[in-house]
Amino acid sequence: MNESTRPMSGPASPEAARSGTTVSSADGLAGDQSKAEVTSDRASVSASAAVAASAAARIPYERFLQCVHCGLCTAACPTYLETGNENDSPRGRIYLMRGVVDGRVELSERVRRHLELCLDCRSCETACPSGVRYGRLIEPFKVALHRSGGSGRRAGWFERFVLYGLFPHPRRMRRVLRAAWWLQRLRLDRVLEATGAFRLLPPRLRQMHRLLPRPLRLSEPPLPERLPARGRRRAVVGLFTGCVADALFRHVHWATARVLQENGCDVVVPRNQCCCGAIFYHSGNERPMRELIAANLEAFPADLDAVVVNVAGCGSMLKDYVAVVEEAPERPSGPASAAPGDVAAFVGRVRDVTEFLDELGIRPPRGPIPARAVYHDACHLVHAQGIRAAPRRLLETVPQLELVPLEESDICCGAAGSYNLTEVEMAERLGRRKAERIAAARPDVVVTANAGCQLQIAAHLRQRGLDVPVLHPVELLDLSYRGHSVCAR
Ligand code: SF4
Ligand code: SF4
Repeated sequence: MNESTRPMSGPASPEAARSGTTVSSADGLAGDQSKAEVTSDRASVSASAAVAASAAARIPYERFLQCVHCGLCTAACPTYLETGNENDSPRGRIYLMRGVVDGRVELSERVRRHLELCLDCRSCETACPSGVRYGRLIEPFKVALHRSGGSGRRAGWFERFVLYGLFPHPRRMRRVLRAAWWLQRLRLDRVLEATGAFRLLPPRLRQMHRLLPRPLRLSEPPLPERLPARGRRRAVVGLFTGCVADALFRHVHWATARVLQENGCDVVVPRNQCCCGAIFYHSGNERPMRELIAANLEAFPADLDAVVVNVAGCGSMLKDYVAVVEEAPERPSGPASAAPGDVAAFVGRVRDVTEFLDELGIRPPRGPIPARAVYHDACHLVHAQGIRAAPRRLLETVPQLELVPLEESDICCGAAGSYNLTEVEMAERLGRRKAERIAAARPDVVVTANAGCQLQIAAHLRQRGLDVPVLHPVELLDLSYRGHSVCAR
């Protein structure tokens, strides 16, 4: 190993940790503040060593070395924009992660918080001229944190009953949502809000209630297993319906299927498909994640022209299947296994619906939608999948729809998977920031291609007293194909 590729102070070891070395911020990057923050602390010694070993097994060291500390990513980082703290920037976090792996930085509570506060929005990847794949650093590092107990928390009631027990199961989730639907229907939710009764709920349940769409739409039946193309058949595609999206946004799945049919696609909706696994992956729960990957690979026939996804977060996870399987050190057998070649072939067919329609060549819709629209770039579409122009090109085909610029359109809205349930304060700040930018553009409709962004933005617009619908691009295309207006959805 030559000098440039060697860890600065060797791999993490109990000796290194015991020596109490601390740890300045490498190369003085994060400055004095970091020096104070990363001071050694006995309680974190064993956690540091365990996380370092686990992270080192998952992350090829060369990935850290790609960062040349230029700082060009900092202005693109939402948490840095909000706090101004170098440790909340991509450059600072790469330094911290590398320092933990090297055994130079103790995994103190404060270091851990800087890493946990990362949205994994991957805006820094887009900004980085050196091609640093930040997502392939922070994601396996967070897995190592969780698996080595370094996150400082065991799975609590929220993780067990809500994140794992409810979210990945659309049928269960719809049963729970039915109760919320009745509350809304009878206007009891307003009574409970006005009397302050909702304040008695645990904060994360309160936050979930706040994010619920108003009104909830639960009337759509499940999609049939096959929907035929309209006109000449151009492709046969599988539609990925996911978990939370299938519970809360089934109307978007129907709109997606209709738009695909309209564009000459047979749409196959496999019954046995399931959650993409992101919920488990991001909390370090690799076994269920692998089982879900194997189940999805089996559910989608190998001869489909594409597996089409309409949720940017799920699409990004599906496209990352090869990486997340390779990075896991253990190779399980049984239901959690999937042959690497099969995973790569599946990933090669995954397309976001906007990407797919743009590649296929859209049959332009005819129905006019006279409205001013702003487009919010979902992080997992623009930064993780590199899809920026395709959704805009599709929207431009809608007669009389005027796409107006949105300042900071590609800065995270704070949704970031379940981030807005776990990091409420930062998610609130980013949600307010996004709503301010949207209000300044005075749109009639907001468009975004991710279910989480739809919920977060709609909640913050409501909070500002703005009655502006937040739709997926395929919903607008569908309305235009059917000759309906935005109000008719
Ligand atoms: S992923 Fe997003 S929040 Fe995290 S460091 Fe990069 S830009 Fe900042
Ligand atoms: S991640 Fe990229 S842009 Fe950011 S400091 Fe490192 S090399 Fe520069």
